[in-house]
Amino acid sequence: MIHKILIANRGEIAVRIIRACAEADITSVAIYADADRHALHVKKADEAYNIGPDSLAGYLNAHRIVNLAVASGCDALHPGYGFLSENPLLAEICRNRNIRYIGPDAGVIRRMGDKVAARSAMQAAGIPVVPGSEGNLASREEALALAETIGYPVMLKATSGGGGRGIRRCNSPQDLKRNYERVLSEASKAFGRADIFMEKCIVRPRHIEVQILADTHGNVIHLFERDCSIQRRHQKLIEIAPSPQLDEAQRTWLGETAVRAAKAVGYTNAGTVEFLMDRDNRFYFMEMNTRLQVEHTVTEAITGIDIVLEQIRIADGLPLSHAQADIQRRGYAMELRINAEDPKNDFLPSFGRITRYFAPGGPGVRTDGAIYTGYHIPPYYDSMCAKLTVWALSWPELLNRAARALEDIGVYGVKTTIPYYMEILKVEEFRYGSFDTGFVEDHPELTRYKTSRPTRELSAAISAALSAHLGH
Ligand code: ADP
Ligand code: ADP
Ligand code: MG
Repeated sequence: MIHKILIANRGEIAVRIIRACAEADITSVAIYADADRHALHVKKADEAYNIGPDSLAGYLNAHRIVNLAVASGCDALHPGYGFLSENPLLAEICRNRNIRYIGPDAGVIRRMGDKVAARSAMQAAGIPVVPGSEGNLASREEALALAETIGYPVMLKATSGGGGRGIRRCNSPQDLKRNYERVLSEASKAFGRADIFMEKCIVRPRHIEVQILADTHGNVIHLFERDCSIQRRHQKLIEIAPSPQLDEAQRTWLGETAVRAAKAVGYTNAGTVEFLMDRDNRFYFMEMNTRLQVEHTVTEAITGIDIVLEQIRIADGLPLSHAQADIQRRGYAMELRINAEDPKNDFLPSFGRITRYFAPGGPGVRTDGAIYTGYHIPPYYDSMCAKLTVWALSWPELLNRAARALEDIGVYGVKTTIPYYMEILKVEEFRYGSFDTGFVEDHPELTRYKTSRPTRELSAAISAALSAHLGH
């Protein structure tokens, strides 16, 4: 039985895993770089260990982290998302050191982390993939010739890419010539592998992904889909479950197809199968993420299943707690990623001190945050500082509740994406539940909201100054 888990991550996802440990009576162990000395995950974990002065090196040092897990008496390790979560080496070292890795096998992580290998595995299983190159591209000339057969626009993509990076659309041979070297260099810089491949560009697609759970006894289930079409530069901003753009037949087909995909590669633990849906409602496999995802919270909201607890049970060798037929879905949920960024200034990161934080509340509202009043957001990490997950029985009620929750939450001292999301919630296509991955680019006007309304903090400061002045 797992009784002590090292969390190889930071920020809100570390806090999320610590909460699961607390409910399961498992001791949680946090790690932190010097820059994270005052981070929330350090305060909340049962134990916390410093992993050095560099802001990133410690979080990326698989050997050192597993050593620490062994030395601190842990029997399992959770990788979270980002950092080493899709690095097969971490899973491998865990296996060698007798630490249970809370995720799939190293071999499956390696295979699915290679988008070209993943595509061929899916093709072999009879699952439709986006039309594209058979393998990696050997040269620019090969790319140009292939694009003629596929037809423009095409996408150049880093084979081991992630986080929306290393992806470029090419509308013409000129574009392709220009972008070829760029994507190649992005791929080698960001992912340490100068391999790229080509896909047909699906014009104005919807990004629909399926959450799956697989145990080590051969049981695989799905927890329905998430619609992640609201993205900026291939990075998700808002995620919705279930997708308001699917009918029941499509939903069933997609869930079953994702289960088939997971079975085809011998998948275990939690994972996500990502698809693109084109304008003729055809689905294409895009990639598989072999880890817990940022947006898992919307799936938890509509199914009531704690995905992190299920991950731990699976790693413990237990069978899934639920059979497919028992999975119920209720209402709609939306996650809004609260990023410390200035939407008015091209979403420039806005790090610094949180002068005030008011958590939102009320029915159907959940926050997963890493911030508190007085916390300094360090400039070295991702700008996402909290996630707001809202649930309601119906889509129209969800829209109202999300707007209310965005009014309710208060993050002061840094710029955030909160006011921008308030604008998105007013847009008709969004409200009708009809949007694609071009939404953000199509609506540049949404960043031009008024900021003249005095913030609650400012009005509080004014009244405090006034009463001091009046001698109250
Ligand atoms: P999700 O669908 O879970 O949001 P993302 O691809 O956005 O998945 O990744 C989750 C987090 O991990 C993001 O904050 C992203 O910045 C980071 N991330 C993921 N993959 C990489 C990578 N290869 N390099 C750097 N950061 C990454
Ligand atoms: P990552 O590993 O960075 O998440 P993905 O392959 O999942 O990369 O693609 C990220 C996003 O880029 C998708 O959600 C979609 O918006 C866009 N995208 C990727 N491939 C295509 C494609 N072939 N056609 C259109 N859009 C695409
Ligand atoms: Mg993806």
